[in-house]
Amino acid sequence: MAAVTSPTSVLIVEDDRKMLRVYSTSLEAEGYLVVEASSGQRAIEEVRTRTPDVILLDLGLPDMDGLALVPTMRANSAAPIIVVSAREQDADKVKALDQGANDYLTKPFSIPELLARIRVALRNRAQVGSTPRTIISFGDYRLDLSGRRLLREDEHVLLSATEFKLLSTLARHPDEVVTTNALLKEAWGAAHQGKKGYVRVYMHALRQKIEADPTRPRYLVNEAGLGYRLNTTE
Ligand code: CA
Repeated sequence: MAAVTSPTSVLIVEDDRKMLRVYSTSLEAEGYLVVEASSGQRAIEEVRTRTPDVILLDLGLPDMDGLALVPTMRANSAAPIIVVSAREQDADKVKALDQGANDYLTKPFSIPELLARIRVALRNRAQVGSTPRTIISFGDYRLDLSGRRLLREDEHVLLSATEFKLLSTLARHPDEVVTTNALLKEAWGAAHQGKKGYVRVYMHALRQKIEADPTRPRYLVNEAGLGYRLNTTE
């Protein structure tokens, strides 16, 4: 008998009924099992009882601040959290990411964009628990995390210790946004919170070494006001 695998479930937390229908219909068409919650209270119940594989969380909820839900969800679930917000909630996005959310989408976004983010979140989650990937490829590059080296078509690219830490922090979350705070903490330690200029300077140096055109980065993508993303899909 073939093994029965349960479908991947997505919890959608969204109070706008129209949007909720659009997301649900699109995800169901892709074979996902959709669980809907239109309030924060309901979302917490669903996280505890339905154990979703991915959580899509709107930050603007009627009964509570979606941001306040992130730590509770993190405490109750290992599922990746993708926060959804309006552009004017940029500061909340940073807080949500720093509190354990994995990625974000800014309204309005397209359905293909939503589906792509869910696939990335699921792919990265699949590596947690199994043997984590130690080689991350992007373009002509291979970053060897355990060997602590970066290769470009088998040529060694020389990186400083800090550059390597920054790049490997991004590479551990490929195609997900990593906040500037998280990068600072990884590369310089918690004592340097707030010194965002460091990250900018080192990211500039990394781009000079890696990007064909550092002014139009293909791999080290800046997410304005939030942080950076290592693009591995092009
Ligand atoms: Ca809303």
